[in-house]
Amino acid sequence: MNNFTYLRATDANSALSLFETNSKFLAGGTNLVDLMREGVETPQTLVDITRAPLAEIQELPDGGLRIGALVRNSHLAAHPLVRERYPLLSQAILNGASAQLRNMATTGGNIMQRTRCYYFYDTASRCNKRARGSGCDAMQGFNRIHAILGASPQCIATHPSDMCVALAALDATVNIAGRSGDRTLPFSEVHRLPGDTPEIDTNIKPGELITSVDLPGSASGLPSVYRKVRDRASYAFALVSVAAALKLEGGMIGDVRIALGGVAHKPWRASIAEEMLRGVAPTVDNFSNAVIAELAAAVPRSGNAFKIELAKRTIVDVLSELATGKGDAK
Ligand code: SF4
Repeated sequence: MNNFTYLRATDANSALSLFETNSKFLAGGTNLVDLMREGVETPQTLVDITRAPLAEIQELPDGGLRIGALVRNSHLAAHPLVRERYPLLSQAILNGASAQLRNMATTGGNIMQRTRCYYFYDTASRCNKRARGSGCDAMQGFNRIHAILGASPQCIATHPSDMCVALAALDATVNIAGRSGDRTLPFSEVHRLPGDTPEIDTNIKPGELITSVDLPGSASGLPSVYRKVRDRASYAFALVSVAAALKLEGGMIGDVRIALGGVAHKPWRASIAEEMLRGVAPTVDNFSNAVIAELAAAVPRSGNAFKIELAKRTIVDVLSELATGKGDAK
């Protein structure tokens, strides 16, 4: 680990003013400290934001919730209003990491966590995300956990979060503070596809700070399911995960939301499938056709072709469960 200067912020404004080129904000540190130990991240300054007053969960006038960026994952998953209105989010968080990590990890940090591609963490490997233009050893290497959707010739990494897959399905928005002002990003615009700049994970600029995440009232109480398929029952990242909500209106599909984890560089909102499903009957055939259309653009690598069929079966199973009223709703 490189030497660095440690600074402590008291609020968002002091955090922004302490941030300099090659600084990093430090919250739970559950990913950043690992990356520093491995020499992947080498900040000159850490700005500790854990004393900033950003750890509240507040109700919004539209029936939604505002989640402070420093709300710990364990607190968020257990909060009565989250469990009542957004059980999908609670389920997704409880499917991630371990109890000890969830006690440390924060909402903002979960969004900002980096890929778990093995080659990204191994500084002896070629990795365009770690060192632009150096190559990508995952392309011809062990790529069982890598992307099937939205990848590029530069990078086939996946985003590792469970929480973010639920936030994508719920149409969350992210509130960001910066020296040039505050702004809000729809969750679908927070994370990026790798394209020609795989070193850039998100559209949150260096020096900007996530202050909170808003959950809209329109997504409150939807019947929902989070299903995670992984190599072992706990403390493993998703091979494929599905966050889905489905509401029937007059026997037909009304509101339907499907987001996928473990398949792309960002939580993948299945917009093609959703569009095909709105207004049709909730049958297995309709679910299958929509999922086949969604995954038509999937590109398998040498070790992960199984993900395409796994994603299809998991989505159809989850939607079928929701259609028969077995989803988690209050
Ligand atoms: Fe690096 Fe992306 Fe290739 Fe992994 S997939 S080695 S993160 S460039």
